[in-house]
Amino acid sequence: MQHARRYLDHAATTPMRQVAIDAWVEHAGALNPGGQYRSGRTARRVLDDARELIARLLGADPVEVIFTASGTEADNLAVTGLYRSSELERIVSTPIEHPAVLEAVKALEVIAELLPVGPDGRVSDLSALDTPAAVACCMWANNETGAIQPIEEVIARASAAGTPVHVDAVQVVGHLPVDFRALGATTLAASAHKFGGPRSSGLLLARRSPAPAPVLHGGGQERGIRPGTLDVATAAATAAALEEAVGEVAAETVRLSALRDALREGILARVDDVLVHTAEPALPGHLHLSFPGAEGDSLIMLLDAAGIEASTGSACASGVNRASHVLLAQGVSERDTRGAVRFTLGHTSTGEDVEAVLAVIAEVVARARTAGMV
Ligand code: PLP
Repeated sequence: MQHARRYLDHAATTPMRQVAIDAWVEHAGALNPGGQYRSGRTARRVLDDARELIARLLGADPVEVIFTASGTEADNLAVTGLYRSSELERIVSTPIEHPAVLEAVKALEVIAELLPVGPDGRVSDLSALDTPAAVACCMWANNETGAIQPIEEVIARASAAGTPVHVDAVQVVGHLPVDFRALGATTLAASAHKFGGPRSSGLLLARRSPAPAPVLHGGGQERGIRPGTLDVATAAATAAALEEAVGEVAAETVRLSALRDALREGILARVDDVLVHTAEPALPGHLHLSFPGAEGDSLIMLLDAAGIEASTGSACASGVNRASHVLLAQGVSERDTRGAVRFTLGHTSTGEDVEAVLAVIAEVVARARTAGMV
C-alpha cells in the first residue's frame, strides 16, 4: 500500500515557499548585476532590493549582507577569514558545531579550545572566552537537538576580551527573531533552504570591521569576501522567503511547539525507555530522541516504509552512520546515540503528520529493537 508521505526533516531542508519560487521565476532572466549597461542596472536594482530587504529583516546594514552559495560557505568564509585577519593563533569554539564550522576550524590546524557542553546540550562554562582569541565560534541553535545557546552571554564574554565572534545561525534565521546589530556578533551565517528559500543560497552578515580576510580570490564582488557573479534570481527568492518566514515567526513558534510537544508526549506514552535529547530552551520544531536498543538506521528505514521521513540527525558521511558528536558532547552514551532519531517540523507540518508518526511509532521501535538484538 502506498502511504501519503509525511515529511519531518525540516531542519535538513524545508520545502521552498511559493513566494520564493515566484520571485525566482520572475527574475530568472536577470543578467549580470555588475554590467554597466541597462540590463546590468536592471539586475542590480533587483539585487539591491533583495539585499536591503534582508538587511532590514535581520537588523543589519545592506553593506553587511554578503550573498554566498551555502550556509557552509558562509561559515567557512567567516571562520577562516576572521582567523586570517588576526595575529592571534587561538580559536575558541564548541564541540557541537555543524561540520561547516568544525571542519573549517580543523583545516586551520590551530589549537581550538572547546567550551564544555552540559546534558541540556548548551555550552556550560564560558571561561575560555576570557582569554583573547583570533575568533570565537558558537552556533545560535544546534541543528540536531535544537538547543538554543546562551549566545548573548558568549558574545559579551568574547567581546570583553576583544575577540571577534562568528555565529552559525543557520537553524535560527527565519525561525527566531534576529537583530544582528543588537546581537553584537562580528559575523553570522544563514542558509536560505532552512527557511523556505532555494537550496545553495547562503547569507553571511559581516560587520565592516573586523572583516574576514578574503578566502576566495576573484573579481571583488561582495566586498571581496565572496567574489563571483551573483545569481540575482536566487537573491530575490531568498529575500522573499525570509520576509514570509520572519513575518510568521511568532505564530509559527506557538503552532510548532504545540505540535512538537504533542509528538513528544505521544511518543513517551506509546514507547518505553525513550531518551529525550531536546531540552528547553530549544527551537520550536525540534525533537531529538533515542530509543536505546534500536539502531537509528533501522528506525529511519522502518519509518520510511511507513511513509515518514525523518533523520538520525547525525553526520552521515558516505553512508556510514556515526555516533552523533553532538549527543556524545552532551554526555549521551555511544550505545544510546545509535538509537537516535530527529523529527523536525516546519512551515508545511500539520497535526496529521504528528498523528501519522504516533500511529506507527510503537511498532517501528519494537521491530527496530528486535533487529538490534540479533
Ligand atoms: N550550520 C548548521 C547549523 C546547519 O544546520 C547547516 C545545514 O545543515 C549548515 C551549517 C550548512 O548549511 P548549508 O546546507 O546551506 O551548507
